[in-house]
Amino acid sequence: TPGVRPLIAGNWKMHGSLAEAAALAAAVQAGAAGAPAAELLVCPPFPYLHLVAGKAGPDLAVGAQDCHAAPKGAHTGDVAAPMLKDVGARYVILGHSERRADHGESDAMVLAKAEAALAAGLTPIVCVGESEAQRLAGEAETVVTGQLAGSLPEGFAAAGGVVAYEPVWAIGTGRTPTEPDIAAIHAAIRAHLAGRFGKAGEGLRILYGGSVKPGNARAILALPHVDGALVGGASLVAADFLAIAAAL
Ligand code: PEP
Repeated sequence: TPGVRPLIAGNWKMHGSLAEAAALAAAVQAGAAGAPAAELLVCPPFPYLHLVAGKAGPDLAVGAQDCHAAPKGAHTGDVAAPMLKDVGARYVILGHSERRADHGESDAMVLAKAEAALAAGLTPIVCVGESEAQRLAGEAETVVTGQLAGSLPEGFAAAGGVVAYEPVWAIGTGRTPTEPDIAAIHAAIRAHLAGRFGKAGEGLRILYGGSVKPGNARAILALPHVDGALVGGASLVAADFLAIAAAL
């Protein structure tokens, strides 16, 4: 999207040791200056967030992979958005399909979490995407716009919120939609954002996620309304992650 700085975000999921997180963050940080076209972001597991945030410089942002909807309270095992902000996070991924599947997160829950993120001064990255059955039934666009309608809070655009389109069947599988299929969903997301938020919705970043690798990044990132990528597996290898960022 013209005038928008793309975002290349790494979702480390539940991988790595403390030492590996430190080394990966340092390697990405060291290479970040070589990919100035993109904003780089890494999202480590909670226990490593503070350490990784300490290693990140101005060229590298740090985010979390989830937060609770409440700012504090009796919620054993959960993590509040203000805590993430406190340890140096700027972004938080919300509604990832693995959380929707593993923890039964609904659009309403994602909406509540996104509101909590905004209240804490974090930028939410809200994930949406259809299952393979929904894709085969021709329902991908309806599913995605329905998820957006249900999970984006009112203040989303004003805060520069990010949407990530991640077809569930493309995550970790090595499969991706065709380029026209990616472009069609991104155009539908843009139309939804512009319809709901007006001018502000036209400049929000829409990431593609699902088996983005150095080999397919250039073609995907060149598609209209693809304003960056959310990268899982390939974000665990600094050279691959940086190669994706350099494909812009
Ligand atoms: C993800 O889970 O956000 C993701 C895109 O994973 P992968 O790149 O491994 O498909």
